[in-house]
Amino acid sequence: MRKLACAFAVLISAACSQPAPPPAPPAGPAEDLITTDSMTGHIKVLASDEYEGRAPATPGGEKTQNYLAEQLKALGVEPGAPDGTYFQQVPIVESVVDRSFVLSVPGNTYRYYNDVVAFSGVERPRVQVQGEVVFVGHGINAPELKWNDYAGANVRNKWVLIMVNDPPAPADEPTLFGGNALTYYGRWTYKFEEAARQGAAGALLIHTEESATYPWQVVQSSWSGTQYSLPPQAGEPALGVKAWITDTAAKDLVRRGGQNLDTLRASASKRGFKPVTLNVRAAATLAQKASRKTSANVIGVVKGTNPAEAVLYSAHWDHFGTRAPLPTDKPDTDRIYNGAYDNASGVAGVLEIAKAFAKAPQKPQRSIYFAFVTAEESGLLGSSFLAANPPIPMDKVAANINIDGVNYLGATTDMVQLGSERSTLGATIDALLKERNRTLGSDQHPERGYFFRSDHFPFAKAGVPALSLSEPQQFTGANAAALKKKQEEYNGKDYHQPSDEFDPSWDFGGGVNDMRLLAQLGWRIANQPQMPKYNEGDQFAQVRK
Ligand SMILES: [Zn+2]
Repeated sequence: MRKLACAFAVLISAACSQPAPPPAPPAGPAEDLITTDSMTGHIKVLASDEYEGRAPATPGGEKTQNYLAEQLKALGVEPGAPDGTYFQQVPIVESVVDRSFVLSVPGNTYRYYNDVVAFSGVERPRVQVQGEVVFVGHGINAPELKWNDYAGANVRNKWVLIMVNDPPAPADEPTLFGGNALTYYGRWTYKFEEAARQGAAGALLIHTEESATYPWQVVQSSWSGTQYSLPPQAGEPALGVKAWITDTAAKDLVRRGGQNLDTLRASASKRGFKPVTLNVRAAATLAQKASRKTSANVIGVVKGTNPAEAVLYSAHWDHFGTRAPLPTDKPDTDRIYNGAYDNASGVAGVLEIAKAFAKAPQKPQRSIYFAFVTAEESGLLGSSFLAANPPIPMDKVAANINIDGVNYLGATTDMVQLGSERSTLGATIDALLKERNRTLGSDQHPERGYFFRSDHFPFAKAGVPALSLSEPQQFTGANAAALKKKQEEYNGKDYHQPSDEFDPSWDFGGGVNDMRLLAQLGWRIANQPQMPKYNEGDQFAQVRK
C-alpha cells in the first residue's frame, strides 16, 4: 500500500523521492536509558553516610524524601500523592510497653518477657483487658475453604488463645491451606487482625519453636522495646492487648481452665473443630508511652491515556538509621545502617524505571505510579497507609510491582517473582522472560511466607495482583558458583547490618536487565485490555469479588 500511495503522491510532491521512512519503533518504555551508571549513582547517594541510614522521621530520612522528589521532578514525573504533591505524610505511632505488664489468672501470674510479651493495638497510655479465655484453634475464618475456627463462638470483649501457622493439610485434601506453603492465614499478623474483627479484647498467640520457626528469644527481642504502628483508622476494630505467650505458660493457663492444651491442639487440626471456652478468667493491665511521628511516602505518576486506571511500582526507601554507641564499640565502629542493597538498590531501580516511562516516546494507556514508601522495616507501615489512602481506588490498580533489592552480582538466566503463581501476572512475565531467553524461577521457601513480608503485600490484601522481585538463583558464566556463595554470604553477614554498604565492584549487568524487563512488564500490563486477576481459589481473589 505504501508503494502505491507513494507512486501516486510523486505526482504532487517531491518528498517521495526519499525512501519510505523505517516503520516507527514499537512503542514502549525507553528501556535503553536504564544503565548501570545512573543506577549506581543513586545508590551511592542514598547509601552514603550523609544519609545516616535513612530512618523515618530523622534528618537522614528527610534528606532521602527530598532527594527522591527532586529526582522525580527532574525526570518530568508528576507529583502522585493524593494531595497533588510528591509527599504523602504517614502518621506513625511509636510506643514502648512498660515492663510492669502482667497477665494473671486465678492462682498464677505470667510475667512480662519470661512468659508473655505484649503490646497494644490502641494508643491509650493504660489498657485493661479482663474476661473469659476462648481457645480458637488456629484462629482462622476462611470462607473460601469452608473453615471457621470461630464458628458459633462469641468472643466479644474476651481473650482468644490462638495457635500460629496453618492447620496441616490432611491426606484427602493435600492442598488445603497451601499444602506445605504458608498461607496468609498462618501468619501471626492475620491472627491478630481476625481476632480484632471478631470483637475480641485481647489475643494470646501460643509460641512453639516448631510452629514459629524461631526461638522465644526472637519474640522477646522483636516485640519488647519500641514498636511502630499506624494509628487505627476510625471504626477499624483494634485489640487492647496483642500478646505472645510461651508454650509452658499457655499449657498452665489451659490446665487451670480445666482442659489439656495438647488435646485441644489435636482437635483444632481437623475440620469441624469448635472453639472451646475455658473455665478461667484472665486479666492484664498494659501501660505504654506512645507518641506520634510522621514520615512520607514519595509518590510520582506518569499519566496514561486512561488515567482512571494504573500500574503501581513500589520500593521502600527507609532503613534502620544510625544506632546509639555501645560501651563495647571501638572509636571506628560503624554504626550507620547504610542499606545499600536493602533497599537503596530497589529505590534506584524504580527511579530508573520511572525514567524509562517519563522519557518514552508515547504514553501508556493506564497511568504508572511510582511509590517510594516509608517505614517498611517497622512493619510495612508506609505501604499499608498507601493501600488504605491511595491516589486512585485500589480496585483500579491493575498490578503492583515491588522491588526489594536489585541483583548486584551479575547476569542470571532466571528471575524470581514472589506471587507470580497467584495471578495472571505470572503468565505475562513468563512470556516476557521467554522472549528474552530467560526463565521464571520459583520461590525457594514457600513455607516461610515471604510473600507476606514485603511492601507489595498490603496491595495484595487490598485485591491488587502483585509481584515482588526476589533473589535469582541461576547465575551465568564460569564463576556462577562463587556468585551464589556471595549471595549467601550477604544474607548471613550483611543483611540488616551496618556492613550492607555500596561496593564499587558490584556488577549490575543482571540488575539492569531485570529493571529493563520490569519496565516492559509494567508497560504491557498498562496496555492490556483486561485487568490482571488473582487465580480462582487464591486467598486474595476474594477481595474483588
Ligand atoms: Zn530490610
